[in-house]
Amino acid sequence: MSEEFVGSLDCGTTSTRFIVFDRYANIVAQHQIEFPQYYPEPGWHEQDPDQIIQACEDCIDEAVKSLEAAGYPKSSIKVIGITNQRETAIAWSRRTGMPLARAIVWADSRTKHTVAHLISALGKEGLELDPGRVVTGKEATDQLQALTGLKLSTYFSGVKLRWLIDHHEAVRRAHEEDDLLFGTVESWIVYRLTDRKLHVTEVSNASRTLLMNIKTLQWDSVLLKFFQIKPSVLPRIVSSSQVYGEVEHGPLKGVKIGGLIGDQQGALVGNKCFHQGEAKCTFGTGAFLLFNTGNGVVKSNNGLLGTVGYQAGPDTNPVYALEGSIAVAGSAIKWLRDSMYMIKSSADINTLAASVDTTGGVYFVTAFSGLLAPYWDPAATGMLIGLSEYTTPAHFARATLEATAFQTYAILECMQSDAGADLKQLKVDGGMTNGDVAMQILADLGGFTVVRPEMRESTALGSALLAGSAIGLFGWDINRPETLVEVNTKGHTDFVSKLDAAERRKRWVRWQRAVERSRGWDD
Ligand code: ADP
Repeated sequence: MSEEFVGSLDCGTTSTRFIVFDRYANIVAQHQIEFPQYYPEPGWHEQDPDQIIQACEDCIDEAVKSLEAAGYPKSSIKVIGITNQRETAIAWSRRTGMPLARAIVWADSRTKHTVAHLISALGKEGLELDPGRVVTGKEATDQLQALTGLKLSTYFSGVKLRWLIDHHEAVRRAHEEDDLLFGTVESWIVYRLTDRKLHVTEVSNASRTLLMNIKTLQWDSVLLKFFQIKPSVLPRIVSSSQVYGEVEHGPLKGVKIGGLIGDQQGALVGNKCFHQGEAKCTFGTGAFLLFNTGNGVVKSNNGLLGTVGYQAGPDTNPVYALEGSIAVAGSAIKWLRDSMYMIKSSADINTLAASVDTTGGVYFVTAFSGLLAPYWDPAATGMLIGLSEYTTPAHFARATLEATAFQTYAILECMQSDAGADLKQLKVDGGMTNGDVAMQILADLGGFTVVRPEMRESTALGSALLAGSAIGLFGWDINRPETLVEVNTKGHTDFVSKLDAAERRKRWVRWQRAVERSRGWDD
């Protein structure tokens, strides 16, 4: 059969998959592998960079075998895209190409003292904007946000790199001796798939480092100086859609790599949120809301981040987005399963939660590693409140699902106020959206319609669309959304809010009180 396909390697937080799509976004072949996570200390979360690569290559091997078993030659894959967990930081040696430390995963909060130190340095020593022109205090904080779109937080990969240089002897030495190479996960995968030929990073990933200027899309010397990071460490920044190089080994040897994108931005593209005012939320390990703000960066007055959505080619204007993230979403369900032994599978939470109508007054603030947007409190901890003898595991399960819904609503409220627009629908994807109960709770507490497409590998689809677009496969062109109208049109489920506004408001106020009580606990 002489079909043409596009492949997408999706390296998420807990698993990697390789998916082969046809021109309509039908999945022709796929394979998924979970890889090990390491939690050596409270608040720490690591991965082994070699195990990440192994999982990626095994997925490619197995998916290609399935493709061949379905009767298609591997040469029918014309181009691949890569999408990845974003702020995870990897340090490796230029000389050997080997990792120097375990990867520090995005959710890891070990850098909170580094952040406290940097915040104090920003206030006192400030930022040197030009030789001799230093701004301090609030001016410096504002300037950092204007340059990066971000806030100083444990979340961003540049802070994790700073921690590695400060605390990991091999990384410190490599930095000193110009042997250190830094990258986020897509950078590391491209480096290895191209047999070390390319050290690049994609612009949406780079926009999450705190080291890139969000307007020039280049590393910024003011920032590098502030973080004391040498430019030699950093990869070259590339767009989200262009031919970067070819895979140099394995079953896809010779296949072009044409799309790179951070996973959340990948889902924005995969959900076809190409126009200003369109938004999506991905509910996986964490939850991530992105709201397309067009070609301009919108400064948030509510603590949300300005980020690059995607750049559809090297000479194309970037599309920006406002973003809010929740560190703990599906991972709280996994925690109920693996640590509390309350459910046998993640899906069971829906049945358990549906066995009661309300949480019976229970609120569960799932701040396992602090709280991100819009609260930004690394010292908040997990907290369960409103317990009584009446409380059962079912109430606990329902409160776990509500926690994600409340945090989503908190972010959306801010986005609507920053962007001055009402959101009527939210497009969703990610493992947690498999649960109908979870989605209904989201619609009920949010007061908006939740739209769940049938084919929800949106993240992978996003990188596939960018990769196909780079070579004009199927006539796709990200800059012309009309070329993508036939993609992923097979159907969707809409969850309409059924809770009355007064009840929604009452629960929302209680949630906010619960959050206040969890704040600052771990200072
Ligand atoms: P990631 O890409 O971040 O690794 P996924 O998108 O694969 O994550 O989502 C995994 C998460 O989805 C897990 O934390 C799991 O608890 C949750 N999940 C999986 N199935 C369901 C379900 N039916 N209902 C609710 N949550 C689920």
